[in-house]
Amino acid sequence: MGGVMQVHDRPGTRRNARRRMAACAAFLALALASALAPAAGAVPAVVNAMVPSAANPLPGLDPAGDPANLSVLVNKSRPLNPATYAPADLVNARGSGQYLRAEAAAWLNGLFQGAADAGTGGLAAVSGYRSYAQQQQVYSSYVNLYGQAQADLISARPGYSEHQTGLAVDVGNANGSCGLSTCFGDTAAGIWVAANAHKYGFIVRYPNGYTNITGYSYEPWHLRYVGLDLATDMKRRGFATLEQYFSGNPSVYASITSGADLVAADPSGRLLRYPALPSGGYGVPVQIGSNWTGLKQAFVVDWDSDGVYDLLAQWNNGTLGLFKGWPGGAFSTQIVVGTGDWDAMTITVGKWSSNQGYPGVVGYFPDGGLRYYPNTSGRALTYRVDIGTGWAGLGLTMADWDADGANDILATTASGLLLNYPGNGVGGFKGLPGSIGSGWGTMKALVPSFGLSGPGTRSITAQTVDGFLVDYGLGTGVWGSQRQVGNGWGSMTLFK
Ligand SMILES: [Zn+2]
Repeated sequence: MGGVMQVHDRPGTRRNARRRMAACAAFLALALASALAPAAGAVPAVVNAMVPSAANPLPGLDPAGDPANLSVLVNKSRPLNPATYAPADLVNARGSGQYLRAEAAAWLNGLFQGAADAGTGGLAAVSGYRSYAQQQQVYSSYVNLYGQAQADLISARPGYSEHQTGLAVDVGNANGSCGLSTCFGDTAAGIWVAANAHKYGFIVRYPNGYTNITGYSYEPWHLRYVGLDLATDMKRRGFATLEQYFSGNPSVYASITSGADLVAADPSGRLLRYPALPSGGYGVPVQIGSNWTGLKQAFVVDWDSDGVYDLLAQWNNGTLGLFKGWPGGAFSTQIVVGTGDWDAMTITVGKWSSNQGYPGVVGYFPDGGLRYYPNTSGRALTYRVDIGTGWAGLGLTMADWDADGANDILATTASGLLLNYPGNGVGGFKGLPGSIGSGWGTMKALVPSFGLSGPGTRSITAQTVDGFLVDYGLGTGVWGSQRQVGNGWGSMTLFK
């Protein structure tokens, strides 16, 4: 993919450019005629537009169904799928003869060390992985002993046991006291485990008093590995059970709940979220952060694809930082995903290749070489692919202009043209760029928006240099309707 010069040599695009220029000129005249002065004060005015619509909610934080996922929810109403699932990476945990998946076993070492260091007398691994067939035997024996109702309270049917995930382990005192008994919870080790397991990615899966939610009676010995992030977040928010953590749609409590919300930093560094209203405009802003000064640019993106929007900050000091959004609100502290000269780059963020499950970064250094940085882990960027030259000076916005399911790059030229570079969906380009507008030199920021004019709608919300917000609907390779959605935004740094 070469530079942009070829675009000017294509008669067809010039014609398009003139047509868009006429439309845009008409709009600008309209905007000027309405003579809306920017509102006073630091907080931009809120405009309630007349177009009826509903906000486009994030996908719910559905519990993972993949039994190989560390956060998979397994209980009496959610069997493993397939029911005969067997993990591929089981290891002998601590040489105990009990097997766990490799990551869980590694963290179990830390947990056991921590318990020993705390002077609890130490822990022992009593029961780990159980196959479908083994669980069938365990369950049948309980049914024979106690009858089905009691068996269901203390044991799982085959295909319904967390032990079959390779992520659950029953622990006990190293000296064997209170083994698989509720009194373990009152021993030094049991008390320590309940208070500290999350620091090693484990949770006490069946806590006391939650039988009506988990379906199981109190088992202070049954630990489930869910990973450090999830275990820590549950502890921090006071969620006692995985069921409660995943229940309903916790992302409705996230700091950013919709792709139509507008997020912006004001000159004093307050981070504000302007919630999209069903009526089509923005509601009263909510402060969701502070000290957001020193930004070159920032982005709202679900960087780790967990269904909750995160923030990606491109700082003037050259760092690219991730602030992970929590389902219940607020953000993590900064997770550095890139270091070096990111302040020298012009970037756009989004899903650039279907080969990656996470959104990535496309951008260029002042030399104009366009690069794609795949995001392979939902965390740090590790490598780049050169995908173009001659991009110096262009403004970049990733959006699916032609609605073919693959994002394109919309590039603003110094002369105010808006060019569409069609993406091929797998990290590169296809076909020739085309001009899709002119007069865009007066835009300070272009923010892709989802659902601002109703479910499924897509648009580009543009911040003009004189502080207006104008929403441009995206169709199928054509512009949809345009409408002003705010004024007085001149001093705000919009998150793209
Ligand atoms: Zn257990």
